[in-house]
Amino acid sequence: MGKPRRFETRAVHSGEHRAGAKEGRDGIFYPISTPIYASTTFSHPNIETTDRVLGGEEQGYSYARYDNPTVRAFEEALVSLESPETGAGIRAFAFASGMAATHAALAAAELTGGSTVLAAEQLYGSTSTLLVQVFGASGVETRFVDAYDLGAVEKKVAALEPRAVVVESISNPLLRVADIPEISKITRAAGAALIVDNTFGTPYLQRPLELGADIVVHSATKYISGHGDLTAGVVAAGAPYAAAVEQLRKLVGGVLGPFEAWLAHRGLKTLPLRMGRQCENAREIASSLAAHQKVAKVNHPSLRAHPDHETAGRVLSDTGGLVSFELAAEGRDAAFAFLNALELCVKAPSLGDIYTLAIHPATSSHRELSPSRRKRLGVGENLVRLSVGIEHAEDVISDLQQALERL
Ligand SMILES: *Cc1c(COP(=O)(O)O)cnc(C)c1O
Repeated sequence: MGKPRRFETRAVHSGEHRAGAKEGRDGIFYPISTPIYASTTFSHPNIETTDRVLGGEEQGYSYARYDNPTVRAFEEALVSLESPETGAGIRAFAFASGMAATHAALAAAELTGGSTVLAAEQLYGSTSTLLVQVFGASGVETRFVDAYDLGAVEKKVAALEPRAVVVESISNPLLRVADIPEISKITRAAGAALIVDNTFGTPYLQRPLELGADIVVHSATKYISGHGDLTAGVVAAGAPYAAAVEQLRKLVGGVLGPFEAWLAHRGLKTLPLRMGRQCENAREIASSLAAHQKVAKVNHPSLRAHPDHETAGRVLSDTGGLVSFELAAEGRDAAFAFLNALELCVKAPSLGDIYTLAIHPATSSHRELSPSRRKRLGVGENLVRLSVGIEHAEDVISDLQQALERL
């Protein structure tokens, strides 16, 4: 056994099984990248082996809704990046979208009728709606809490005895940073499962399982794949949740296809390079915006004025690739004029891509909320969110400045 390999090295190599040479018409060869196994089913040298594979007594593949070598390669890479140092027993499961993964994670937390979930009020809108509409219909009650107020979390956990607590490592669009080590102390003591949506954090910034979380969820559509060209999700968890997630995926069938798994795995290999550059760019962009007269306020954990500046220093290895800011000019018209004036930054929802993307949260991610709820969450009409890409920071800053000057 060699030395444990570092994150960057594991990102590149994990999941690839080159030792398993392929034997074919052309002799023996070793693909350096796991091929796309576009096969719905797998046969074995004899039916006894098929029997053992189906019975779970022997490792292998039988049917693509259960497992597929391309999908498993991606999952193994994710396990290697999300697991704690000690991390035996963590497994990852790839889904057709982040929402399919979130659904499986919540269901795996054994949300049987009558139980309660405590969710961050800052959660991704579809996650809140999934809880209220879909889980609500089968008797699960969802209550909300300001997840960035530990006192409030502690009180609500004590009062409600929730089966699960759901938070995001970094919230949208104000980029609040959850204190996962402290929240996990509270959930552990209460016997609740802590589910962390680590989409904004990625294992590059934080490994929630290392900090006491029970289940980690990703929209791999975002930073994990990183190129804005596929939809995918992942759940990573240890016992007893991993087995439940696997069973749910078999039965509900929201598995990721081999083509997307191959692309996602290829994207994952450059996660440390991309995130490193994105964090650096975001810091520069945040500080240049903070110094601009036409900007009223900038939200980025790298800034001293950010409410979670100190927490971010403790629980994240860097301050992330998203930045949001309020224009000094009030109202929707100014925000729209600013967005329309951008020439380089792409006006599109989603995040975590190599391109710098700009959106207006009040009319996109937070569109469905009432104006008063938006106000409470700090999402004003003059707020713009950037998902910083891997371009040269100076080019992005120039684009933002010329658009600001035109206001
Ligand atoms: C995008 C996103 C999701 C949903 O993921 P999809 O891949 O779009 O299904 C869930 N949580 C967060 C934080 C997201 O940004």
